Amino acid sequence: MHPPVRVLISTLATTRLTSGPAYAGAAPVNKEGLSREQWGVHPVNSQPEPVTSTGMVSDRRNRPLRDLRISVTDRCNFRCVYCMPKQIFGRDFTFMERDELLTFEEITRLARIAVAHGVQKIRLTGGEPLLRKGLEELVSMLSALRTPNGQEIDIALTTNGSALAVKAKSLKDAGLKRVTVSLDSLEDATFKAVNDVDFPVAKVLEGIDEAYSVGLGPIKINMVVKGGQNDQDIVPMARHFKGSPYILRLIEFMDVGNSNGWQMTQVVPSAEVISRINAQLPVEEVASNYPGETSARWRYRDGGGEIGVISSVTQSFCHSCTRVRVSTEGKLFTCLFATEGDDLRALMRGGCSDEQLSSVMAHIWRERTDRYSELRSAKTSELHATGKKKIEMSYIGG
Ligand code: SAM
Ligand code: SF4
Ligand code: SF4
Repeated sequence: MHPPVRVLISTLATTRLTSGPAYAGAAPVNKEGLSREQWGVHPVNSQPEPVTSTGMVSDRRNRPLRDLRISVTDRCNFRCVYCMPKQIFGRDFTFMERDELLTFEEITRLARIAVAHGVQKIRLTGGEPLLRKGLEELVSMLSALRTPNGQEIDIALTTNGSALAVKAKSLKDAGLKRVTVSLDSLEDATFKAVNDVDFPVAKVLEGIDEAYSVGLGPIKINMVVKGGQNDQDIVPMARHFKGSPYILRLIEFMDVGNSNGWQMTQVVPSAEVISRINAQLPVEEVASNYPGETSARWRYRDGGGEIGVISSVTQSFCHSCTRVRVSTEGKLFTCLFATEGDDLRALMRGGCSDEQLSSVMAHIWRERTDRYSELRSAKTSELHATGKKKIEMSYIGG
């Protein structure tokens, strides 16, 4: 990603640890609270822009920062074969210790700064976010945030739905606006073969209905389509959710992480997904709701609602990608396919000020050039050649 920024971060952290209060005596200090010396030694740009909280920071491809995804746990009660296969995430796998996780206060602090830089939507994810104890408290802290012009933040959650029937009401009361629930099949045999922990479909459906009844809508249903695993369920899933209040989104199986044995032959292109649905339930394309929407929208010609397809592999949408991700232990990632993140927890626990944190966040975003999906083949060879590993989806948050 941005090695100079990472060096800058480690400088900030170690400066704090080795020379007393951060920047005590350092002069001259620019508007970002950083001495010229520090910028000079580790230049990001020769003339870094001052950080403002106008709600707008754009990257090198002119993409504004709009969405923040926060992974609140690296643990999960499922072992989906495309995400946390048991061979890797088995009994011996070491998950993070509690003190390694960002606290709710740390998460909220980062979120507040991200909101000042333009974030309007926050999505809680994981691992399985409903496994994080006291999640409602975090939701309520985040829901108190406001954009620079006083707007509420859209707070959403992506979940496997296993605990949703129990948690939906308390999450709604805490300020959660919407949920996206992952469900890959309506057939127990197929669903259990995917989640690999014998979890039944009915309990997820129960969670979805409960979320709807408490007002956590619009609810989206994420189905990862993996050829040879659940592609036979594309049309049955479409038929089941057609005419319901739920929006089914069919996602191409992605080469995230290093554990899922991804092969291009297992990707069912969205064009084929649409063609299979269209053959039985005629659909037509609809304009996107807003720039940067990940899913392409289609609606049933008979008025039975809409579906979405997310073509991360066959039709990348990097040009409009406005998402930043914070991992469970506070690393900032500007791409889902990143190999390294910037350690904001070290900064915060090293005692940096909000201004410094704000500067670092703005710089990371301004320096961003990521477009992995657009360059997939070249990037894959580069990763092979350098031996670098991509971050796992369960760690970075989907
Ligand atoms: N545990 C929660 C869940 O399953 O909804 C949240 C985290 S999960 C990593 C977020 C989303 O990523 C889920 O919808 C999941 O299906 C999707 N996902 C995980 N691995 C994927 C892959 N290899 N390709 C496409 N989507 C994937
Ligand atoms: Fe867990 Fe979600 Fe990954 Fe499945 S996709 S293993 S539910 S984190
Ligand atoms: Fe965004 Fe990276 Fe995905 Fe492209 S590959 S859409 S830059 S997260």
